[in-house]
Amino acid sequence: MSSTGPSSQTTDFPTTLPPDPKADTWRAVPAAQQPEWPDPGALRAVTDELTTLPPLVAASECDTLRDRLAAVARGEAFLLQGGDCAETFDSVTADQIGHKLKTLWQMAAILTYGSELPVVKVGRIAGQYAKPRSSSEETLGGVTLPSYRGDAVNGLEFTPQARRPDPGRLRQVYDHSAATLNFVRAATSGGIADLAQVHTWNREFLGLSPAGQRYEHLAGDIDGMLRFMRASGADPDRLSPTEFFTSHEALILDYESALTRVDSRTGALYDVAGHMVWIGERTRQVDGAHVEFARHISNPVAVKLGPATTSDDALALIERLDPERRPGRLTFISRMGADQIREKLPRLVEKVQASGAQVVWVCDPMHGNTYTAPDGHKTRRFDAIMDEITGFFEVHRALGSHPGGIHLELTGTSVTECVGGTVEEVTEDELGFRYESACDPRLNHSQSLDLAFLTAEIFRR
Ligand code: PEP
Ligand code: MN
Repeated sequence: MSSTGPSSQTTDFPTTLPPDPKADTWRAVPAAQQPEWPDPGALRAVTDELTTLPPLVAASECDTLRDRLAAVARGEAFLLQGGDCAETFDSVTADQIGHKLKTLWQMAAILTYGSELPVVKVGRIAGQYAKPRSSSEETLGGVTLPSYRGDAVNGLEFTPQARRPDPGRLRQVYDHSAATLNFVRAATSGGIADLAQVHTWNREFLGLSPAGQRYEHLAGDIDGMLRFMRASGADPDRLSPTEFFTSHEALILDYESALTRVDSRTGALYDVAGHMVWIGERTRQVDGAHVEFARHISNPVAVKLGPATTSDDALALIERLDPERRPGRLTFISRMGADQIREKLPRLVEKVQASGAQVVWVCDPMHGNTYTAPDGHKTRRFDAIMDEITGFFEVHRALGSHPGGIHLELTGTSVTECVGGTVEEVTEDELGFRYESACDPRLNHSQSLDLAFLTAEIFRR
């Protein structure tokens, strides 16, 4: 047992230290995208309870992720971050979580081979329950109701009752995150998948369709590498893809600050709802509440940067979020759109480089490429997604910076939400077959592996 007193140096589980007022300074600052909770007393009761619950992640794990991201910042590793746009309580099942993990493991194996770098695996998982919205209301058939803001806030069903914000849902976010994380930890440490097994899955995937032959050369190279390892006495069957981290958008600040704890090792604050948190494109105001909250926590933090981001914005975010320039602390996730990345990203990278700051550069090729299909489904084209990734690599190669990773919305099943794919194509007509996302369109299992193979090829160009 670890000791529990405030003076303890022996545990990194910051369970018993008194709260630090720095976790609440955001309250004095305007906060965008917060729900209008109908009953502040009920909200207070829930957040009071959340402050008493055990942390979902350990501060030391957040530090480990920061070390891994520092390697990415130095060009010595690659980040794969992916999962749902919006997790839902209903999708907390062994099948859904298991398929997502398997997909990320398979992609990581392909990308490790392609990049010849360790791949840091971070899920958009175990906490990704809140969504920013461009409009706070939605009108359907002449009826206007509050927009769906994620299962953390209200229900997707288009009824007044479901759409009413309910703070009791924040407690459910904690419970569903805990259940998800528990399964993720069991699956990653329980030896379900070693490297050879993951490669066998990839081979099975390629065997499923003649189009998979396209990647035969890469798969064949990996076969050869596994044989080489066995022959050299390094047993690939014992290389398990164990390390896995969680992340989500730190959007609902009442929830995030209720799950912020003082680390008894150092006195530093950590958001213990996930290993890494990010600030979205709509809440990244330098003087806004989300940046104010994030600047006091010691987790690795990311910020989404859309096409309107100026280099002054980027430099101000660095100053505010990473004044000590700690490698691995700050990640910039650009989400420019395929048609803008080659024009907009270079200036940001150049100015950040010139300032001497070292950030992790990651490409989100999803959010700048969304459009509405003729049948009304929100979708994205696989080709546009690949084009943005290609542009991201081109920009970084031209400037001598490291294309540090990719941030994707994906799922492990065969949904039909994004259009295209070179192995199993989804057409616009097919979007209605299995469109299951509660928010943005996700790559399905096949499109995700397809993307990983194509990205591996970009590395080898
Ligand atoms: C998201 O990641 O789901 C999202 C809303 O992204 P962004 O903030 O980049 O628009
Ligand atoms: Mn999204």
